[in-house]
Amino acid sequence: MPEFDVIIVGGGPIGIACGLEAQKKGLSYVIIEKGPIVNSLFNYPINMQFFSSSEKLEIDGIPFISKEAKPKRNEALEYYRRIVTSNDLRIQLFETVEKVTKYEGLFQVMTSKTTYQSQNVVVATGFYDLPNLIQVPGEDLPKVSHYYKDPHFYASQKLAVIGASNSAVDAALECWRKGSEVTMIVREPEIGQRVKYWVRPDIINRINEGSIAAYFNSNVTEIKDTEIVIDTPDGALTIENDFVLALTGYMPNFEFLENMGITFSDDEKRLPTYDPETMETNVEGLYLAGVICGGMETHKWFIENSRVHAPIIVEAIKKKASENVKI
Ligand SMILES: Cc1cc2nc3c(=O)[nH]c(=O)nc-3n(C[C@H](O)[C@H](O)[C@H](O)COP(=O)(O)OP(=O)(O)OC[C@H]3O[C@@H](n4cnc5c(N)ncnc54)[C@H](O)[C@@H]3O)c2cc1C
Repeated sequence: MPEFDVIIVGGGPIGIACGLEAQKKGLSYVIIEKGPIVNSLFNYPINMQFFSSSEKLEIDGIPFISKEAKPKRNEALEYYRRIVTSNDLRIQLFETVEKVTKYEGLFQVMTSKTTYQSQNVVVATGFYDLPNLIQVPGEDLPKVSHYYKDPHFYASQKLAVIGASNSAVDAALECWRKGSEVTMIVREPEIGQRVKYWVRPDIINRINEGSIAAYFNSNVTEIKDTEIVIDTPDGALTIENDFVLALTGYMPNFEFLENMGITFSDDEKRLPTYDPETMETNVEGLYLAGVICGGMETHKWFIENSRVHAPIIVEAIKKKASENVKI
């Protein structure tokens, strides 16, 4: 059974940063990714533009050259893919980590293909895999999706967009511009304050002029084949509908982390337990990296401010290894 100094679960930007740092510092490592390189970014909307400028998305100081200051999804795919290939990083793709256990000081990492052993494990699995469900009848209908990809699909269709965050606003505007009849259903009294400042006026103007319909302080209570039911401040309303984009955010796979022994704050934030000096969790040798560190506060960490986790973790692993040698 192959044994490593460190196994990195997740081949997103931060998992890749951890692999690159481990390689640079001479640790034996492998990155295990259940999809393609930077799978989450691959699943982002095809026209998505990052709110960060490209230098803020760089890892290990490797220049990220993009056409505009804020790169597009495809440019980010290219950038992270080239880091993997040009550094010949050790990454297993389309292999899912199913279970991580610890026995006599060594981690057993069981995947969909095999089992590995390692002294340390870094979990950098992000939060994009599990959507926050709205828990209403009809949410499982094929016309409903929690992931937005391409506006063309919704052209000339009656589209309901649930949510008021960046993803929902981007989807509503793009689809309206491609000829969808868009209706937004927003739980709050207004469009989110965290919506990109250069986009927020656009959506507010489209709503005020009536191009995009919007129900505030409202909730979808049922989704049917050809219509949806909305609970508005003026009472229940049924409108015709072809498709629903429920862009209500995502959450980490808490069960996966709990099964490893990681503990969490017992409030709605469900913050995982880790030492910010080393990113080590309450399980010795088990580290967290990237956006997963925010628990339900998925807006707290992003590439810009979590890429530093890589050098912190590798330094901590090396320091501990040298201390163990001295004993
Ligand atoms: C629409 C959108 C726009 C954004 N814009 C920005 C921005 O402008 N600037 C910024 O800094 N951040 C931005 N972010 C946030 C940023 O993209 C993510 O936070 C980033 O992807 C985090 O990197 P990560 O490596 O921590 O997690 P991810 O990129 O989510 O990577 C986790 C990886 O782990 C893999 N994985 C999960 N479970 C397993 C398993 N069991 N076994 C194997 N592999 C597994 C996944 O397939 C995935 O590839 C944006 C996010 C979204 C959704």
